[in-house]
Amino acid sequence: MNEIAVTLASVDACVNGRRTRSIRFPPDIERQFEADMHDKRCKRLTIGLLVSAPLYNLFLLGDWLLVPDVVRLAMWVHFSIVTPWMLLVAWLVSRKPRPFVRELLAASVPLLIILQIDLGFALTASESAAHYQYVVIPTLLYTNVSLHRLEFRFARVVTAAILLLHTAFVISASYISAPIAVTIIVQLLICGYITLIANYTMERDLRRAYLYSLRDRLRHADADAASRRDPLTGLANRLHLDDELSRVWSRPECRASPVSAVMIDIDHFKHLNDRYGHAAGDLCLKRVAAILQAEIRRTGDLVARYGGEEFLIILPDMAMMDAVRLAERIRRSIEIAAIPNEGRSLLGIVTASFGVAACSPSDLSPLELIAAADHALYAAKGKGRNQVWPPLVADATVRSLTEPLTFMASSSEAARGV
Ligand code: GH3
Ligand code: MG
Ligand code: MG
Repeated sequence: MNEIAVTLASVDACVNGRRTRSIRFPPDIERQFEADMHDKRCKRLTIGLLVSAPLYNLFLLGDWLLVPDVVRLAMWVHFSIVTPWMLLVAWLVSRKPRPFVRELLAASVPLLIILQIDLGFALTASESAAHYQYVVIPTLLYTNVSLHRLEFRFARVVTAAILLLHTAFVISASYISAPIAVTIIVQLLICGYITLIANYTMERDLRRAYLYSLRDRLRHADADAASRRDPLTGLANRLHLDDELSRVWSRPECRASPVSAVMIDIDHFKHLNDRYGHAAGDLCLKRVAAILQAEIRRTGDLVARYGGEEFLIILPDMAMMDAVRLAERIRRSIEIAAIPNEGRSLLGIVTASFGVAACSPSDLSPLELIAAADHALYAAKGKGRNQVWPPLVADATVRSLTEPLTFMASSSEAARGV
């Protein structure tokens, strides 16, 4: 299935909107419809043409029996013009041309067939040609209802052309008496009308079914996205985080490049809740989440709400020191936001502590990397909060990050030492 480029609101508006006589969708949904149906339509047309080419050549039996004086000409036009054209159109359509070109090519086939039929009728001197007029009926059925079934906008033009051409021929044919000519024309008009109504109804039903299925797809996608978001902050939740970690860890190109993790915990958050109320606590979580999201700009990076007032950032293809620098920038942004939290912290504002870890996915599992970041966070808390651990200095701890397990041990020791 193609990616969906329309919104649920526009599909809902189309489903519930006032019915107009136009069968087509608004432009955005029409584009989506084409994107989703194009391959199927091309395949159906190709198969339809391959099946109908031999059926069309069966018409020659009627030519041989009823208009034998022009059967050689009919055979020549069948085998050197119309059949090769049908096969060429089948091939061109199988190459998936643009939708308008696809329909134009498809529309050319019944027009060519009716020209061939009327050419034979115009040149024959056979009286029995008057009994052979029903040959136009399978052509109309083929154009509007079965095998070929043109889109309605093309079907009505081609049907009108078929009816006009054949009516002109019937009126001018000297061997068709006036009463028979009138009967043929009326029957053709009725047949054209009925097959066009069938064509319209089938296309309308197909489009309506498509619209409902598109709405279901969008609703499903919305529900899926909602199940992956934390409702308070709008950040990814644990479910999304787990999926993303599995995706990052399964990318072959990623196995050699580093992945960094930053674990963040708001300092003295319980105090903020107690002092300012739970609603203020919620607001603080939202503001911190917005700061995190504003700072994480690379595609592929992920910010998740890990727990109550804990957040986790996953940074694929980012080395340890860059992740520490990024954490330091976020720490300062939270400070600058100056969300009040008086009473516990020195500054009287909300601050956060950060633990950073990095590894190569071939060395550590996602859980081990998160555990390492958690250890580092524990160290940051122990060092007095409102800081990033390891700090932005090229000390032994940071350098040892090329050996992640060693790092885990050293950060645990650091945590124990405070
Ligand atoms: P520390 O500086 O050591 O991190 O202390 P802390 O008070 O931030 O941490 P603690 O784990 O003691 O408290 C976390 C609090 O976060 C407890 C819980 O009530 C609160 N909390 C968890 N989820 C939510 C939430 O969705 N909204 C609000 N308002 N509070 C929450
Ligand atoms: Mg906590
Ligand atoms: Mg906390």
